[in-house]
Amino acid sequence: MFFRHWSPIGEANAFEKENPIMKGCYKMQIGFIGLGIMGKPMAKNLLKAGYSVTAFDVVKPNLDEVAAAGAKAASSIAELSAECNIIITMLPNSPQVKTVVLGEGGVITAAKPGTIVVDMSSIDPMVSIEIEKELQAKGIEMLDAPVSGGEPKAIDGSLSIMVGGKEEIFNKVKDILLVMGGSAVLVGKIGSGNITKLANQIIVAVNIAAMSEGLILASKAGVDPEKVFEAIKGGLAGSTVLNAKAPMVLDRNFKPGFRIELHIKDLNNVKDTAESLGLQLPFATQALEMMNHLKEEGKEKNDHSGLVEYYEELNGVKVERLK
Ligand code: NAD
Repeated sequence: MFFRHWSPIGEANAFEKENPIMKGCYKMQIGFIGLGIMGKPMAKNLLKAGYSVTAFDVVKPNLDEVAAAGAKAASSIAELSAECNIIITMLPNSPQVKTVVLGEGGVITAAKPGTIVVDMSSIDPMVSIEIEKELQAKGIEMLDAPVSGGEPKAIDGSLSIMVGGKEEIFNKVKDILLVMGGSAVLVGKIGSGNITKLANQIIVAVNIAAMSEGLILASKAGVDPEKVFEAIKGGLAGSTVLNAKAPMVLDRNFKPGFRIELHIKDLNNVKDTAESLGLQLPFATQALEMMNHLKEEGKEKNDHSGLVEYYEELNGVKVERLK
């Protein structure tokens, strides 16, 4: 248990150098930047597991909450970067990750060579590649490690983590990833984690759209959508998406969870990546259009299960339990 929090990462301090028992085992200090819906519970799980965490967010109440759970609150990204040898980022999208890691006063300006940056945000895979190149020039390592599972799985530490980067770097942080996730799979080189996440986001969006179409058909035909869900969830149409999202639709609970605006961000990243690969992805394109329509109506803060409202508006039918 003791050795769990020590590993051959970073530079040894004087105590470690002088004590033979510590040879090759240096103290691990984790930095966590981005304490939103996902980052907060992920950082808290690291603290619960006994890791030493320094945290930062531009939103003070988020930082205060994680500090109250035992983290050291950093006053800047540079301060955090100077004292941590593993730095996890959980930020909205590519521009924020670029600013935090490569910008003025960013991680790159203060982190020591040998530091490992683990970007767990869902961003454009090309940006992951670009950031890693700049970090490598300073001797800083990087993995892209986006997650799937949403807030509930972030809270219970059972996220699915998809990783891109070097195998030896992955092996150094795997135990830490497994505190936050139920699985952590190295998919390939840098950028592969985010390519996998884009595939995941296509599959989730199209599943929610398919669920909405099925339930709207049942509702219009006068068949209770709750009974339909109960009847089909154990069959071939059953899925994690159906189990998580159908109850939200039936309860008319569109509190996020995963906001439509974040799914739009991911589907825009899908669009850019598909274009650069010369691919046509009709279902992903359609799902993006439907979500953009809901955004125009001011519904972008709703959970993505709220996609059902697009179908409801289109057809003048509501998916509700029969009284
Ligand atoms: P969020 O908006 O709730 O949190 C992002 C946090 O980053 C906020 O606390 C914000 O203040 C902070 N931040 C933004 N810019 C910053 C900066 N320059 N410096 C420091 N902090 C900054 O988003 P979230 O839902 O936690 O999602 C984070 C990432 O995880 C996104 O890429 C998202 O797509 C992905 N994701 C989210 C879910 C989900 O269900 N919410 C599921 C899987 C993956």
